[in-house]
Amino acid sequence: MGALTLRVITPEEIVLDVQTASIQVPATDGGVGILPRHAPMVAALGVGQLDWRGDAGKKESMFIAGGFAEVRDDTVRVVTEASERPEDIDIERARKAAERARGRLKEVAHDRQAVIDALRAEFSLRRALMRIRVAGQKR
Ligand code: ATP
Repeated sequence: MGALTLRVITPEEIVLDVQTASIQVPATDGGVGILPRHAPMVAALGVGQLDWRGDAGKKESMFIAGGFAEVRDDTVRVVTEASERPEDIDIERARKAAERARGRLKEVAHDRQAVIDALRAEFSLRRALMRIRVAGQKR
């Protein structure tokens, strides 16, 4: 039917492998439309929605938990930590996850700056320790 192959891959399984005429991937800087003969490309993906045209031109969608999309030779490979079809999403579970996350954010809201500082310090510590380790390998 379509001239493009769309594959969605997670660490566990190939969740989607279809032929389609057009695809839209949730790139971090907005949706990117892909048609046949698209130039080779690698794009970072945000948490978003992957769209493509199914049979009879019907719009199909999947949830994508960020990752990367590679476009090459009329094949689009989406690599992501998690991906679900609309009918496979447990809405109650997502509502509970959102509630937990909001609760946690509220707990630290009074000291947002301390959280940012701690994150910065952690990355700074990682860089410093790695520099010390790499420096130890000089000849
Ligand atoms: P939770 O706190 O509910 O586990 P999460 O965002 O931490 O949510 P992920 O780490 O993104 O979950 O996903 C872990 C696994 O669970 C993946 O296989 C993903 O597809 C699945 N998953 C997560 N949330 C849902 C959901 N609401 N409905 C269906 N599958 C889900």
